[in-house]
Amino acid sequence: MLEYILELIYPTKCGFCDKICKDGICKKCEIDLKKYEINLLLRNKDYNFKSMHIFRYEEEIRKKIIDYKFNNKAYLYKTFAKIILKNKKVCGFLKSYDIIIPVPIHKKRKLERGYNQTELIAREIAKNSHLKLEKSVLYKAKNVISQSVLTKDKRKQNVKNAFGTKNIEKITNKNVLIFDDIYTTGSTALECVKMLNKYNAQKIGVFTIAKD
Ligand SMILES: [Zn+2]
Repeated sequence: MLEYILELIYPTKCGFCDKICKDGICKKCEIDLKKYEINLLLRNKDYNFKSMHIFRYEEEIRKKIIDYKFNNKAYLYKTFAKIILKNKKVCGFLKSYDIIIPVPIHKKRKLERGYNQTELIAREIAKNSHLKLEKSVLYKAKNVISQSVLTKDKRKQNVKNAFGTKNIEKITNKNVLIFDDIYTTGSTALECVKMLNKYNAQKIGVFTIAKD
């Protein structure tokens, strides 16, 4: 109901060109964004997991992710979710997982920002796919400095032991997908994988919108 009312007040726009558009992304922008698409599938042999990344982190993509995270444009979650769900290669990858876990942010940061950007998108993906959103397993134990302001070599140290786990029985024998917005050095994703690897998940994977 609330969603319906919001829709009347704020009709969904294309997140990239602002044209009124029910989908969250218009056909033209969808085609324009193809030039950033890489649909890159990587395998981390050391920790035995696969990761999937849709776009190169540059130009329009970079601008929108920054807008979404730092410029109060929470509504862009719909656009990103739509882009993800329309991508056939990505959907093929998502199919082999049961649970989607958005990378958590610290509760203090969530209060400041008003939302966890990865959670909003993961929730929308879960709503429109077979994946189950699970946000009670992984939590941010330390309010670390934003990775985005650190040099690449400082990032690994910054997120070390930054995450905690609870309710770990929820991932037992499950195929678990960790979702984040950007993959830069991979430190954040790797730290999450390491935390969850301690338990009995069947498989762990990583999925991000963009790769730097
Ligand atoms: Zn558009």
